[in-house]
Amino acid sequence: MRLLIATNNLKKREELEALLAGLPVEILALRDFPHAPDVVEDGETLEANAAKKASETARACGVHTVADDSGLFVDALGGRPGVRSARYAGPDPTSRKLCRKLLSEMESVPDTERGAHFRCCIAMADPAGRIVLTASDRVDGNIIREMRGTGGFGYDPVFCHEPAGNTFAQMSPEDKNAVSHRGRALQQFRRQFAEWLKHRRD
Ligand code: IMP
Repeated sequence: MRLLIATNNLKKREELEALLAGLPVEILALRDFPHAPDVVEDGETLEANAAKKASETARACGVHTVADDSGLFVDALGGRPGVRSARYAGPDPTSRKLCRKLLSEMESVPDTERGAHFRCCIAMADPAGRIVLTASDRVDGNIIREMRGTGGFGYDPVFCHEPAGNTFAQMSPEDKNAVSHRGRALQQFRRQFAEWLKHRRD
């Protein structure tokens, strides 16, 4: 079967492709569908955004489609920036801008109250736009007081993962994927997708 990965983010597409390796699927990219819609991520939850992206893209392109949405949820900020993580620091957000804004907003938050987690939701839709598979997972950590490390993207330099005590930006991509919200959700998705492939009738 053919499966379209609905993301323009090259890193995400490569991660998904790597995780689906060995399964009998032909992976397609958005660039193969110049008329694919630019789906607006205006849902109130990650689940809603992942489902909307998968569903609208699948219907427009007539092919099974997988999409994801993720975000950082900070305890001391009542779960913000959450579903709005990409837009937290305004348009054109660099990792530096996002981290700086978060550090300044959390300046007075004591060390014992700096818990946070990343979450990732994945949805797959059939060509009619119906959601046929979903997966999600999270990873817990703490927001430290300065940026550390040069790898990763987004909030990685300020998100510290125990027990090693390194930020995601200090970890290799492999080490991050082994524990991250996206890596875990993708592994769940792969298991479900492999089962679904065995039983599908369409
Ligand atoms: P989206 O899933 O591409 O919409 O991601 C939303 C935003 O959440 C990203 O732009 C990042 O700012 C943040 N984010 C999601 N996952 C990660 C991660 O693994 N590390 C750092 N930031 C992340």
